[in-house]
Amino acid sequence: MKISPVIPSFALWITMCGLSGAADRGSIFDRNGEVIATGDRKYPAAEATAHLVGKGGLEEAYDTNLAAGESLQLNIDLQLQTSAYGFLKESGLPGAAVVIDPSNGEVLAMVSYPSYDPNDLVKGISKETLAALAEPPSEPLLSRASAATYPPASTFKALSSLAVLGKEMDGSQTCSGTTEAHGKSFLCWKASGHGKVADVRAALRNSCNCYYYQAAADLPLSALVDVARAFGYGSRTGIEITESAGSLPSAELGSDVQSTVIGHGHSEATPLQIANAYATIANGGTLYCPQLIAHKEPGKVSTITAKGIQAAHLEIVKASLIEAVEHPEGTGRRAKIEGGMRVAGKTGTAAITDDRYAAIFAGYAPVEAPRFAICVVQEGGSTLSGGKASAPLAAKILAKADALRKAKP
Ligand SMILES: [Zn+2]
Repeated sequence: MKISPVIPSFALWITMCGLSGAADRGSIFDRNGEVIATGDRKYPAAEATAHLVGKGGLEEAYDTNLAAGESLQLNIDLQLQTSAYGFLKESGLPGAAVVIDPSNGEVLAMVSYPSYDPNDLVKGISKETLAALAEPPSEPLLSRASAATYPPASTFKALSSLAVLGKEMDGSQTCSGTTEAHGKSFLCWKASGHGKVADVRAALRNSCNCYYYQAAADLPLSALVDVARAFGYGSRTGIEITESAGSLPSAELGSDVQSTVIGHGHSEATPLQIANAYATIANGGTLYCPQLIAHKEPGKVSTITAKGIQAAHLEIVKASLIEAVEHPEGTGRRAKIEGGMRVAGKTGTAAITDDRYAAIFAGYAPVEAPRFAICVVQEGGSTLSGGKASAPLAAKILAKADALRKAKP
């Protein structure tokens, strides 16, 4: 995990709140008119909204408007926000969750855990307490959702599949558990091997590394990087608060095709970028700027077809992402909502350090007409995996999002 170097001074924000005059400052509301910040700077949802409003958040980005008494209406659904935060906290693992409406880029929930109570900061806290909040590895001040980056790991195979399909390299491959390249051994997660893997669809469903090592062996690194870029990796999304741009693999960094094709090799993305890439898959290929504020128009950035990716190939990837959740052997099967909407998605597990891992699930639902794109990331020890930890957590958040949507037509 890497942390964005752009971290505005938190003391500045506190000063700004003080200077702007408590009663005159604009309020912040969610999409349903629920209060996130009152005019006299109380935050009823406390820890659950800290990273939206706090350090590097909306209080600072919209200080001029708020100080002039203008209120902000967000796309955030406060009930979904607090539920998602509660689920993350229950897991006890540091992490983040982002839910985006794929049809327009509206951010419905964006949470990071651990967090802090912004009410305490307005009241004033000691330097020591503030320093403790910035202390790694837990670092509660850090917005993991937008300012921390992780290797996208196997969630990137959805994009690699498009590169493989684009070069017509999507035929069968055999996985013995190991592939040799550049004098090195590259491993599949299944040590005994997957045997014959019929096509890219089966490879994505089973997340077979060796398939991708072999199918991409003759691709230039740029073919993978171009697809990553088309889905927004390597650039800031344009969201209204502090975010990291992440990083793309490159020959200068020593990245190789084998590492890159499985989402490593100097690839780093924020949970927000990963959720937005899956929103782009869900909506058929339009990359939007994720918006926290309820603007009049969605912020369309580009389309994948304009970047040379075929819409028909995206349909193959979408079918595979459904199978990854619905097939009994699919690595994302724990994201399935029993009796609920159909979910599509992909798991990933990335090493952050030798003994620290990030578990990831990225996907969308319902598959027929997607309303929610999601990314869940959790940090933990070597037994952590995206399939076991983050897929079920994503299912809980998506089920809650669906219930809230049905309650408020
Ligand atoms: Zn394999």
